[in-house]
Amino acid sequence: MAPVAAVTRELAPMDVPARLERLRSLLSQAGCEALLVSNRSNVRYLTGFSGSAGVLMVREDDAVLVTDRRYAAQAPRELAGTGAEARAVALKASEQLQLLGQLATGVRKLGLEAEDVSWAQERRWSEGWAAGLELVATSQLVEGLRARKDAGEVSRIAAAAAIADQALASVGGIMTGHATEAEVAIALDAEMRRLGAEEPAFATIVAAGPNGAEPHHRPQSRAVEPGDLVVVDFGARVDGYCSDMTRTVVAGSGDLAKELRRIVSIVLASQDAGLAAVRDGVTGAEVDRACREVVEAAGLGELFVHGTGHGVGLDIHEAPALGAASQDILRCGQVVTIEPGVYVPGLGGARTEDTVLVTEAGCEVLTMTPKETHAL
Ligand code: ZN
Ligand code: ZN
Repeated sequence: MAPVAAVTRELAPMDVPARLERLRSLLSQAGCEALLVSNRSNVRYLTGFSGSAGVLMVREDDAVLVTDRRYAAQAPRELAGTGAEARAVALKASEQLQLLGQLATGVRKLGLEAEDVSWAQERRWSEGWAAGLELVATSQLVEGLRARKDAGEVSRIAAAAAIADQALASVGGIMTGHATEAEVAIALDAEMRRLGAEEPAFATIVAAGPNGAEPHHRPQSRAVEPGDLVVVDFGARVDGYCSDMTRTVVAGSGDLAKELRRIVSIVLASQDAGLAAVRDGVTGAEVDRACREVVEAAGLGELFVHGTGHGVGLDIHEAPALGAASQDILRCGQVVTIEPGVYVPGLGGARTEDTVLVTEAGCEVLTMTPKETHAL
């Protein structure tokens, strides 16, 4: 494995300026002349701005990031850094609203991001700065663009995956020494930071023994005992981009109950089937079916209680969805997870998850950690 420090230093460039143009080409079909982008990840995707507050008014002729005075230095710096053709304005709250009204001058139909704007916000805006405008509910415009990653985005996700791999290899061994679930999670988080991650991509899951039966168990004070089956689900974030992986391992060298050995092998076979099903042009439902068939054939279909996977990028969960009802079509350049699991209440659970890049003929697996249960 390449040293992680080198991986994060050599991130490929991203073509941020092209994204605004691609978004503009979608506006008329969405029934609006301009779009107010309020979803934070969407603002970051379009401009590079990583602050916690700010909206982006995208018009045909202009794009303006309206933020507050905490970001007076950061916002212009980040926009200049990505080369996005947008200007940043940092103002007091009342002045921001006034500016939005001015920026909407001449616009009749203004799109809002329906999944992001609250009902209360829409009401306030339509009675305030947006009075007289026709507000149009749009859905998934920027998210649809975000689903396919450029080389720069893939290199960030791959670096995040490499950091997570290396963190587990470095500190996973503490599971054999009676550390608690919470201590294992803290050690992983700290190691990912040390290796160059901005932060964990989401709250790290460490679920030992019977706790493994809860897919999203929060690590607690339970000690990881030798022979426990432990589900570890975590990821790193590099320059905004997430990775996501799960391994199910046996702590120490204890013997695993026969029933747990069986669910581990079924999950591994299911995940292999899912990985083999991924390629450009298949639906999320088809990949889900490939994974689920293996679990159902073993008579455990009822215990696979979640979808097979999800897109990964600036958000840990984004388009496309890989689930029983998903008609999303996988495309080259998308990055998704394949993560079947089986959960037996009172006994434990198993899940294996890789982050993969969809290619023409299949996929490239970005998660490198071996899948043997005694890998640590
Ligand atoms: Zn995960
Ligand atoms: Zn996941």
